[in-house]
Amino acid sequence: MTNPDVLVVGGGIGGLGAAYALARRGLAVRVLEQAAAFGEVGAGIQLAPNCTRILDDYGLLDEAAALGVLPHAMIMRDAVDGSELTRLDLRDLERRYGHPYLVIHRSDLHTMLLRACERAGVHLRTSQSVVAYANTAEGACVTLADGRREEARVVIAADGLHSVARGLLSDDRPVSSAYVAYRGTTPTASGRGAEVDLSEVVVYVGPRCHFVHYGLRGGGLLNQVAVFESPKARAGEEDWGTPDELDAAFERTCDFVREGLPHMWRDRWWRMYDREPLMTWVDGNIALLGDAAHPPLQYIAQGAIMAIEDGWVLGEHLARRLAHDGTVDWPAVLAAYQAVRPEHCRRVLTASRAWGDLWHLDGTSRRNRNALLRERAIDDYSFVDWLYGPTALEPSEEPPMFTPVPLASKADPLTATCGVRRS
Ligand SMILES: Cc1cc2nc3c(=O)[nH]c(=O)nc-3n(C[C@H](O)[C@H](O)[C@H](O)COP(=O)(O)OP(=O)(O)OC[C@H]3O[C@@H](n4cnc5c(N)ncnc54)[C@H](O)[C@@H]3O)c2cc1C
Repeated sequence: MTNPDVLVVGGGIGGLGAAYALARRGLAVRVLEQAAAFGEVGAGIQLAPNCTRILDDYGLLDEAAALGVLPHAMIMRDAVDGSELTRLDLRDLERRYGHPYLVIHRSDLHTMLLRACERAGVHLRTSQSVVAYANTAEGACVTLADGRREEARVVIAADGLHSVARGLLSDDRPVSSAYVAYRGTTPTASGRGAEVDLSEVVVYVGPRCHFVHYGLRGGGLLNQVAVFESPKARAGEEDWGTPDELDAAFERTCDFVREGLPHMWRDRWWRMYDREPLMTWVDGNIALLGDAAHPPLQYIAQGAIMAIEDGWVLGEHLARRLAHDGTVDWPAVLAAYQAVRPEHCRRVLTASRAWGDLWHLDGTSRRNRNALLRERAIDDYSFVDWLYGPTALEPSEEPPMFTPVPLASKADPLTATCGVRRS
């Protein structure tokens, strides 16, 4: 194969989404993945309407819905007493945004994107570890660990949290939140899995911890996630987030949450990092995408979605600047991408941190938060409109964010703010 039009480094959800978005427009795209096989580690992932809208545009929504679950409600509960704080009616939400809220196994989403890439003719290569990037007179090139070089008109770096390419634009480092996630799936035929209502996505928010559950694979699997702040991380110890800390972190939570802990995988856990927002993602003919550009804390469940949106935005601007003879005005495509995506993702990154702070409150602040959340009207979408509407292609299309409500409005002198409006 001669040089492709585009090299995509990283075959995660972001890289494959971008490869498909560009290949379906007729470009020759090659994906370079460092692992020996394409795959995703982990369990469930939530896809809000700003993502299912794109899957629909790709012709993949029916397949995704068949692989996943379309829940009816998203409910937030207090992890200590188990009481309901607020909810979203996901059928009403689908009517509002035109597309559903979907939960799906990561590996099913990833495999679906991989198959779409294969159908679109993407050249998929594994065991390709990229160690350096450079712009050239004709485009850009990457150097692989074995010393070989690959060239293309444009390189998209979708190489994740520890991105090598990000070093072209910033010397920042991943920021540890000192929080860690445990995950686990369990069959729903009997036991714990059979006790849980799979038509609901539920998050229990508690002091320095939270617990999430929802169904996967047409309801055949229950997905559970337990997240907590590690005291050992806060003390600066290397060995943090271990299973003994998991059990201690949830001691104060209600029976339902504690009974979920034995169902977590205990041989692996995910330490939670993000990075400070980066406002320049393009260096010549090299562009960052996905977690390489904007790794978030996962609290508003938008990390993979932002990555898929990035690819879709690139593909849409490509389509606008693709001449009949196949030439592409790449400087204009990359400039349009740069103009719209960093600001949106900056908002998601900062809102994710604030949302996590809100979830993990204790004492009077927790009680004030609960009072505010209980006051929210069920049809008040003001705090998700900025996320779930159509993905902006131009800066002028980016919707305004919600107005934060000070917790102090509930007679607490705390200065922290709450990510909900009072109804
Ligand atoms: C607990 C948890 C829950 C989450 N829940 C959600 C959710 O519900 N919804 C949501 O949208 N997001 C969620 N996220 C976030 C989401 O998982 C990530 O944002 C998303 O997977 C990032 O995809 P990516 O392709 O950009 O990066 P990655 O998944 O990190 O993929 C990067 C790829 O690049 C490859 N690579 C790395 N370096 C090189 C190299 N030098 N050469 C070649 N290849 C390389 C890697 O092997 C990997 O395959 C969650 C995250 C966590 C931790």
